[in-house]
Amino acid sequence: MQDDTEDLAATVDALMDGLRADLERLAAIPSISFPGYPKEPVQQAHDLLVRLLREAGVEHIESIDLPDTAPVVYAEIPPPDPAAPTVLLYSHYDVQPPGDEQLWLSPPFEPTPVEGGLRARGIADDKSNVIAHLGMLRAFQGRPPVGVKIVFEGQEEYGSPFDDYPPSDPERFACDAMVIADLGNLRPGTPTLTTGLRGASELVVEVRTLDEPRHSGEFGGAAPDALLVLIKALATLHDVHGDVAVEGLRREPWTGAGYTEDEFRSLAGIQGQLPLFGSGDLGERLWSGPAITVIGLDAPSVDNAASAVVPYARAKLNLRFHPLQDPKEAQAKLVDHLRSLRPFGVPLTVTPGDTGPGYEAATGGPAYAAARAALKEAWGTDCGYVATGGSIPLVNGLAKAAPDAEVLLFGAQDGMCNLHAPNERVLFSELRNTVYAMCAFVREYADDFGKGAQR
Ligand SMILES: [Zn+2]
Repeated sequence: MQDDTEDLAATVDALMDGLRADLERLAAIPSISFPGYPKEPVQQAHDLLVRLLREAGVEHIESIDLPDTAPVVYAEIPPPDPAAPTVLLYSHYDVQPPGDEQLWLSPPFEPTPVEGGLRARGIADDKSNVIAHLGMLRAFQGRPPVGVKIVFEGQEEYGSPFDDYPPSDPERFACDAMVIADLGNLRPGTPTLTTGLRGASELVVEVRTLDEPRHSGEFGGAAPDALLVLIKALATLHDVHGDVAVEGLRREPWTGAGYTEDEFRSLAGIQGQLPLFGSGDLGERLWSGPAITVIGLDAPSVDNAASAVVPYARAKLNLRFHPLQDPKEAQAKLVDHLRSLRPFGVPLTVTPGDTGPGYEAATGGPAYAAARAALKEAWGTDCGYVATGGSIPLVNGLAKAAPDAEVLLFGAQDGMCNLHAPNERVLFSELRNTVYAMCAFVREYADDFGKGAQR
């Protein structure tokens, strides 16, 4: 065992220079799959991955081409023997747009050294994890001890019809476990398995009170003010502590790992010593309980404000809910709450929008046991469980296609890597340990799976 560990460490360390060079090549391609951006770089990133997989010894490679989305790289390595398990490896090769380039310390598509790592758009999310999968394949010279299915998606960040595709082609996605590598550790050096994703839902609430604006001196005081009605409605969504006050949204104690309050303050960029919203454990507020955010508001702007009673106002709300709450039910709770309100006696018009389910992994199976052991071996410390507020819609599609497969979420990103923000970066220590963990995982999982089969 000791020898195994030392051999694996030496193997992975020897691969790192090559993996870094490939990560830099990949991160230099602006593969942004958003409308209005050129499609050539997306195809270029796709083609580079196909080449890298082929060079890593993968023979069966194809593209899944669906309408209105970038090609999905799909590849298979058959199991080395019929008793070996099959593991599906997922990550995505498209990236978020860079946003305001003035805020970047170096050009977003010129990978630039930073302390212990590299800075570029998409270098953590999710190109680091594409490279981590590749590193595992190289470590086993293309012949890992498990069967492998590779799914590298090209339009994850914008949203893709591919999310709904896997259940229509279940044979292709059949596996015993999947490693969804589109996230990473709570903080650098803390190995983390993400076991829950909150569900998400949006809606618009509108108020119309007058035909047109009316002079506030002549009409204010009696004419119903749409903006005040809306503000009063929005004020009912939280209690005085900032906890969600809508009945029927599930909230449960959080039992996994989590951020310290100081870490959270710094990650959120909270001004001064302002209090946080809500009460109780942070994990409960962020992951196993609901959140309602007002994400947009239509009302006269301050610069254009006339002295008039406002006739019309609307707001868009974003709801995040417990991973296991039914999405329609969660959305209905918020819709019903708003529809039942009559601020100043005025009814509101509520229009439900998109809603997507959360996800909670079953953590009691052999793949989880192997992953816990692998992460501990890679980082030298026990791994923690966290959830995330962000959603990965494809996870539900894959879980439907392979309902008995264990779903593992881990990877080379970390909580401080600025994903979707300026100056995204990845750390070599996290990348190296993720490659190691992927290798140790397939080794442990193949060993345990064989033993389970013999019993
Ligand atoms: Zn991502």
